[in-house]
Amino acid sequence: MPVYKAPTRDTRFIINELLKLESYGNLSGFENASADMVDAVIEEGGKFCSEVLAPLNLSGDQQGCTRHPDGTVTTPDGFKAAHAQFREAGWGTLSAPLEFGGQGMPHVMGFAMEEFVSGANQAWGMYPGLTNGAVSSILVKGSPEQQAKFLPKMISNEWLGTMNLTEPHCGTDLGLIRTRAVPNADGSYAITGTKIFISAGDHDFTDNIIHLVLAKTPDAPDSTKGISLFIVPKVMVNDDGSLGARNAVSCGSLEHKMGIHGNATCVMNYDGATGYLVGEENKGLAAMFIMMNAARLGVGVQGLSQAEAAYQNAVKYAQERRQGRALTGAAEPAEKADTLFVHPDVRRMLMDAKAYTEGMRALCLWGALQVDLVHKAASEEERQTADDLISLLTPVIKGYGTDKGFETAVSMQQVFGGHGYIEEWGMSQFVRDARITQIYEGANGVQAMDLVGRKLAMNGGRAVQTLFSLVDEECAAAKAKPELAIIADKVEKANGELKAATMWFMQNGMANPNNVGAGAHHYMHIMGVVGLGLMWLRMGETALETLAGGTGDPAFYQAKLTTARYFAERFTPDAGALRRKIESGADAIMALPVEAFATA
Ligand SMILES: Cc1cc2nc3c(=O)[nH]c(=O)nc-3n(C[C@H](O)[C@H](O)[C@H](O)COP(=O)(O)OP(=O)(O)OC[C@H]3O[C@@H](n4cnc5c(N)ncnc54)[C@H](O)[C@@H]3O)c2cc1C
Repeated sequence: MPVYKAPTRDTRFIINELLKLESYGNLSGFENASADMVDAVIEEGGKFCSEVLAPLNLSGDQQGCTRHPDGTVTTPDGFKAAHAQFREAGWGTLSAPLEFGGQGMPHVMGFAMEEFVSGANQAWGMYPGLTNGAVSSILVKGSPEQQAKFLPKMISNEWLGTMNLTEPHCGTDLGLIRTRAVPNADGSYAITGTKIFISAGDHDFTDNIIHLVLAKTPDAPDSTKGISLFIVPKVMVNDDGSLGARNAVSCGSLEHKMGIHGNATCVMNYDGATGYLVGEENKGLAAMFIMMNAARLGVGVQGLSQAEAAYQNAVKYAQERRQGRALTGAAEPAEKADTLFVHPDVRRMLMDAKAYTEGMRALCLWGALQVDLVHKAASEEERQTADDLISLLTPVIKGYGTDKGFETAVSMQQVFGGHGYIEEWGMSQFVRDARITQIYEGANGVQAMDLVGRKLAMNGGRAVQTLFSLVDEECAAAKAKPELAIIADKVEKANGELKAATMWFMQNGMANPNNVGAGAHHYMHIMGVVGLGLMWLRMGETALETLAGGTGDPAFYQAKLTTARYFAERFTPDAGALRRKIESGADAIMALPVEAFATA
């Protein structure tokens, strides 16, 4: 049986010591974010995930969901009861606004909890997780009546939400959407069409499900400019908030898929279902992006969570499994063989995982802080900087974060040798569940294009320039400290590669846009290295200060310093190789005619 324990120690280090959440106490929502409060919430939340959700992960994978002839869906044993406990304890409401029944805490706290939920049980976590994206859209674009009617119950998890974008012929290119929304006399719309791959499209957790659906009105342009967003409840909601008749929306079938078996991935049929327009007609794409941006950061966290869960199991296995001898001579001569931990190649995989998971956790929680600062920072300048940085780095957290998350899950499976391939050890599930994070919420190739095609050019390149300066300034300052000099030097070099790649795009993208498309994925990975590099530099500094002050557990902080050095030595060199790939341009990638790809 695989193990999972929420990584609360590391999370508390990041929130209290690295981000110093307490120091933002003058901002609204941060008043109560004292270190004691953070510790209490993180520990209790972690306990819930480790003790209630994690034990349902393997059984949920094995049992999967069941669709009944009437179109209703039952989730695996124990899932519904766990949700009742989650709801009762208010774990879904941490960062939701006070006015709609949330606890109004910083997003950092909600994000930390998301990692624990997903690490414990990704499939389960998607039921409440998708609701957060739906809530974000209604919060920003919904009318006061819609907000009053739907938000309190969605935030309290009495009802859950979904996102309905994808159709059989239309995934990335949402301009192709065919679902129709025809106005009714009472101001509502009749929604007709088929959506596929809808996560949590139907289930038994709650009495009602609030679907957010993209559709086109009859006279809308047949492109992304003609998309509108609608609220479509599974069960109609009366004016007094009570439930009315069943709406004309149902789950037509469940997809059979590679992983996240405990989550119901549904084909959803809308047969003239009653829907309510959110925001303005034909402006659905903007409303949808609010939902997508929240969800993209959440998917980055999912990539991290599967890597963390796989890492914990690999560490345990490497401590127990004995094979061969240390290259430097038997480490435990009394035993017939040493543990896997003595082998540098096994260490390489474990150190890669440690450097990625801890660096990525810091980047995700730092990103969550930027989400808060966009609205709450004291000055306009700080709000703008936070907005620039999180807009730029959202596709990186999603794309780089999940590519590395999957890679890490695979290498942790490798630590188990053949046993990693056998289902009962649970490593296969981490790999299968991690894989979807690279695909949904915009496949990673599309994240890369969002980064290079939209985010780089925003406001004349202001966001990327802000990142360059931030990294350069912090590296220059850190070089003065001998213990950090090697880290600062290598992160600064990676930042130099990022600048050079950016310049190359500027010089070669206009003449041939394929040059940008051909390098986009590599560029996203260089920015990921720089982003994690900045986090490791900061974690190294924090660790150094704590060690110098003689407080805290020295082993924890010494490990941070060593892992920062490992990251600098083993991750940052990739930036140079990736830049050289970018600079080879699109010629060879695009040269062959399609027929040349045939092998038979
Ligand atoms: C398990 C699961 C759960 C899902 N949950 C939901 C959900 O809840 N709601 C929902 O609406 N959808 C959901 N999806 C759909 C998911 O978001 C899409 O599958 C994804 O966005 C990609 O769309 P597609 O599958 O049609 O691929 P396509 O758009 O056909 O893309 C195929 C490939 O081409 C690449 N590509 C396409 N266009 C471009 C471009 N312009 N530039 C560069 N590369 C490009 C893509 O990166 C990808 O590698 C889910 C999917 C799965 C498998």
